[in-house]
Amino acid sequence: MTTGSALTGLDSVRALLAEADPKGSLVPCGLQELIVGSDVLGRVADAVTSVSPAFAGDSRRVVVLVDETPILRRSPDGLTQDVKDEVVRVLSAESDVHRAVLSDGHPELHVTASVVDDACAACQGADVIVAVGGGTISDIAKLAAAALPGMPVVTVMTAASVDGYSDNVSVTLKDGVKRTVPSVWPDVVLADAETVAGAPSRMNRAGYGEMTSMYVAPADWRLAALVEVDMSFHPGPVVLLDALGAGLDESAPGIGDGDPEAVQRLTWALTLRGIATGVAGSTACLSGVEHLVSHMLDLRAAQLHLPTGLHGEQVGAGSVIAACAWEMLHERLAAAPASRVVPATLDPDAAEELVHAAFDPLDRTGRISHECWRDYSRKLTRITERLPRVNEVLAGWSGHAGELQAMVRPSHVIARGLASAGTPVVLEDLGPDVDASTARWAVQNCGLMRDRFTVVDLLTVLDWWQPADVDEVEARVNDAVARAGAGA
Ligand SMILES: [Zn+2]
Repeated sequence: MTTGSALTGLDSVRALLAEADPKGSLVPCGLQELIVGSDVLGRVADAVTSVSPAFAGDSRRVVVLVDETPILRRSPDGLTQDVKDEVVRVLSAESDVHRAVLSDGHPELHVTASVVDDACAACQGADVIVAVGGGTISDIAKLAAAALPGMPVVTVMTAASVDGYSDNVSVTLKDGVKRTVPSVWPDVVLADAETVAGAPSRMNRAGYGEMTSMYVAPADWRLAALVEVDMSFHPGPVVLLDALGAGLDESAPGIGDGDPEAVQRLTWALTLRGIATGVAGSTACLSGVEHLVSHMLDLRAAQLHLPTGLHGEQVGAGSVIAACAWEMLHERLAAAPASRVVPATLDPDAAEELVHAAFDPLDRTGRISHECWRDYSRKLTRITERLPRVNEVLAGWSGHAGELQAMVRPSHVIARGLASAGTPVVLEDLGPDVDASTARWAVQNCGLMRDRFTVVDLLTVLDWWQPADVDEVEARVNDAVARAGAGA
């Protein structure tokens, strides 16, 4: 990895994917160009030309989509610049540029239907959308482009906090619940090192937290395919993830210190993660238990009108929990190899009661329970249909354990990386809005919020996700933190 020049390594990604997917069964990568490097902000003009080449003079209409937050960068010659002004200035040389500032009246913007409608209205008649901002603006731009067929999108990343810039899905808020919906691939993603390094260091540290989902989520994805609840697993994206995970640990302390080289490396890895998700055709490859825990906290924050926590911080702490859940499962199944699904755990009436008990206290209208039960009941039905297969997998567990264990990092190793990147290791580190009882609620009920099958669902149907079992997971998390601190 070098600084001072742009890194456009999509060719190496394509080569890796071609090797891992000789039959071409993955979703083709729709991203045309990835520009990651030092002082590359000015290349946004070339990017716009490349996706909309037919124009000359000022006839090309570009809408620059932003939120209200000012974003500053320090240029290599020491000037402090407003990034959004700079993008508008650079593009104005060859295009007719309109800046659309989105707001939903909250201090931070959310991806709601009305905000997306505003974005669509602003982008109507444009030739190119240039999104300048974080994950939220990027998601809105992709949804607006999905509603305006053929519309190219150039995304200028301003923080390395999440991985959703370079894929073809967006996270939206629907009835107070976060949902991932199809959108479009951006045509170009540009990450200028000076801009990203200028983001609040807490955001980039959170980006490391987001990365740690690759140490746990692929196992959930594989498990879901093993028990035939979700067959979308493909080894290709996992190969890509393994390749980009190499060496990231050495960068962890640098990310914590705001070292531009380390932040640039993180940026690169996050964009490749986006590609892995996009070609997988499912976010499941990087979104398992750890993301469910994060979504639970987001859901609660939205209902109580608290600020949304940093996604990557939540995911990082969630990854330690996920690893502990896996460790508990492996140990118990090794000790009790004749374990089978407990039929009572599949009873729909009892399950619906659990969903209400989890979510009604947050929302007396029952709207959230209804949304979650709709998803959870679908998963329960699927598990019930595949019950013989689930029991078959349990009966042959010793034949699957090795593969699954290889996809999950030891919990204390994940904890150690998070600590050295300076990002929360346990949920209670997330700040005053997440106390021990909130953390407990999020972990206990994370399986109930959507239809994604994870290790928590297998534990649930084994009747190993009762409060006493979650106590054990908490104790394992504490042990992982202690071992990480002791350098074990
Ligand atoms: Zn994420």
